[in-house]
Amino acid sequence: MRNVVIIGSGPAGLTAAIYTARANLSPLVIEGLQAGGQLTTTTEVENYPGFHHAIMGPDLMKEMRAQAERFGTEFLQGDVSAVDLTQNPFTITIEGEQRIETRTLIIATGASAIHLGIPNEARLTGHGVSTCATCDGFFFRGKELVVVGGGDSAMEEANFLTKFATKVSVVHRRDKLRASKIMQDRAFKNEKIAFVWNSVVDDVLGDPVVTGVRLRNVVTGKTSDLPCAGVFVAIGHTPNTALFKGQIEMDAKGYLLTRNGTATNVPGVFAAGDVQDSKYRQAVTAAGSGCMAAIDAERYLEAEGQH
Ligand code: NAP
Repeated sequence: MRNVVIIGSGPAGLTAAIYTARANLSPLVIEGLQAGGQLTTTTEVENYPGFHHAIMGPDLMKEMRAQAERFGTEFLQGDVSAVDLTQNPFTITIEGEQRIETRTLIIATGASAIHLGIPNEARLTGHGVSTCATCDGFFFRGKELVVVGGGDSAMEEANFLTKFATKVSVVHRRDKLRASKIMQDRAFKNEKIAFVWNSVVDDVLGDPVVTGVRLRNVVTGKTSDLPCAGVFVAIGHTPNTALFKGQIEMDAKGYLLTRNGTATNVPGVFAAGDVQDSKYRQAVTAAGSGCMAAIDAERYLEAEGQH
């Protein structure tokens, strides 16, 4: 029987681990398929306080994990296949086999990249279509690329990809970016970045590898083909909450609903980070809510007389 199980190992999960470990609750972190979370697929993090020269996303996550480990956090590599939250202690099943019982659960499963949902996108994923510039940018030295999206992620990916590519075309469905001013300015200043406004990708072309995209101008309706060797899709994220459907209250987009801090509708179950935040979605806000979830879990155990 555990006091605290944390599902997810991004900034929210690992901060919850640091706090619950220091509160002598011996937390177990189930790391999930993408240990370290979304920051492991990003480059320089310039807005996480404490690193005035910036820090690489994977390095920041390594630090957080080591900090959690230092205070006695246990880690389990694996993915949760089922949860039973109908009675306390809750039961967590790992990959259909191992069962763990816990008095409190902190859900920090984060969010995943959204895909365009066009047929050739799936066929060409790994053959020129990617959602991770850090992972795949290296393969496109000297090539022309397309980035889809107008948010901070798209700007960050586009800037990063100019280290390798000769040209990066950002395809955005409107004529204004959603990205923050600083990220926009950086992209506008980068001579290797071009913008294709008011346009969507209707198809990804090529067999067996990407050779271009078919674009449609949403104002004129005109279609055109843009040759490229790679397509980086950066159009946002969806919360990883499938496991909790029917057990934890969610909003229409699937984000977990929290109240009074990080409490969900199930007493003893708390949610932190991007899985419950469709608004701020920053590493530092995720970490902050991980801290809140740890304190909420500790107080819950105290009130139940179990700590
Ligand atoms: P986002 O802000 O939700 O932006 C998604 C972009 O993709 C929007 O421009 C959106 O267009 C477009 N889009 C969505 N669905 C689309 C579709 N089906 N087809 C074509 N385009 C589509 O997501 P994000 O850029 O991943 O950023 C998420 C959060 O992380 C934000 O809070 C952001 O500030 C933060 N972030 C920060 C940094 C940083 O500061 N270094 C880096 C990355 C992310 P519309 O604009 O028309 O809606």
